[in-house]
Amino acid sequence: MAAEIQPQPQARKPCLLSKIDAFQEVVSTAVIIPKEDGVISVSEDRTIRVWLKRDSGQYWPSIYHTMPCSDQLSPLPLFQEFVLSEDYNKMTPARTYQAHQGRVTVVLFVLEMEWLLSTGQDKNFTWHCSESGQLLGTYRTAAWVSGLQFDVETRHAFVGDQSGQVTILKLEQDLCSLVTTFKGHTGNVTALCWDPVTRVLFSGSSDHSIIMWDIGGRKGTAIELQGHNDKVQGLCYASHTRQLISCSSDGSIVIWNMDVTRQETPEWLDSDSCQKCEQPFFWNFKQMWDSKKIGLRQHHCRKCGQAVCGKCSSKRSTIPLMGFEFEVRVCDSCHESISDEDRAPTATFHDSKHSIVYMHYEPTTGNLLTSGTDKIVKVWKSTRSVCCLETGW
Ligand SMILES: [Zn+2]
Ligand SMILES: [Zn+2]
Repeated sequence: MAAEIQPQPQARKPCLLSKIDAFQEVVSTAVIIPKEDGVISVSEDRTIRVWLKRDSGQYWPSIYHTMPCSDQLSPLPLFQEFVLSEDYNKMTPARTYQAHQGRVTVVLFVLEMEWLLSTGQDKNFTWHCSESGQLLGTYRTAAWVSGLQFDVETRHAFVGDQSGQVTILKLEQDLCSLVTTFKGHTGNVTALCWDPVTRVLFSGSSDHSIIMWDIGGRKGTAIELQGHNDKVQGLCYASHTRQLISCSSDGSIVIWNMDVTRQETPEWLDSDSCQKCEQPFFWNFKQMWDSKKIGLRQHHCRKCGQAVCGKCSSKRSTIPLMGFEFEVRVCDSCHESISDEDRAPTATFHDSKHSIVYMHYEPTTGNLLTSGTDKIVKVWKSTRSVCCLETGW
């Protein structure tokens, strides 16, 4: 099969463009304004700021607004809608939503539906009409929600929560029905990212892993991506370069080449003895007695899933095509079957040099924003932008 040679999209390293370090508190949410080279930030001290890049290359604040404390205006946490003037010099409050009894965790605006989806620590998922301000519906989630995505075409909401599951809800104008739940993480879901083109959902977790749920493939394929050593804090998909960008609280940014076809990891097999050398595992008293052998500890080969003893799985290998960018335990025969070519990484690893709490990616410029516990916001050139993809840069 003559495969078309794709340009290596991950060859480029994120390059730091600017730093904004004038914050009193950690920035919990921020977005890049694509056309103006601006940034909107919301920090823990309840201030919203709009920053514009000046000729000097530095970002300067153009607007500063402090949200009222919840007890000043009302006893309930709220979120507010603002209209930003075209010159970015004025921010006018437009509407206030009182949707939750606890801290608001995620707000998502769906322009096509004129819906505002929100979740809070009160475990409620709500959706409002942004035109009328009217509450359309509420759904109670299993735990408080930390990731929220929406598919406009099928009106499915993906809700990732602190229990580690992802709930898929079908939304009608004022009705919500449970479609299914995805369970795969052993820690909280910390980030979700939906690509409507390939119909793939990515979930990141405090268990350090990312799971790629292939909904479009309709085969129930879920592929684990192991490339972080700490809590995954953000996920963004660059569909024009087919790259997944993920970040973790240890400051690492991983850019995954999603052009690669990866395989699912096998189920771990159960056995009372090593499936290679047939020596009994320690709970297999009968065989231990019969053969006068000492019982061994059970391990599993990450490639074939067989139950093996330590001696038959003494080697380690990365298996990038199964999502393992770090070395994992493999049995000796699988180790022999993995070629150097198979070990070629399918992701690149970068150090942002701050502990990331939030990440935002802007596809038209290819710029990436990271916010850290150091109260600094960094803007990076991370991937090819949509317009430069053809010409190269
Ligand atoms: Zn063995
Ligand atoms: Zn094996």
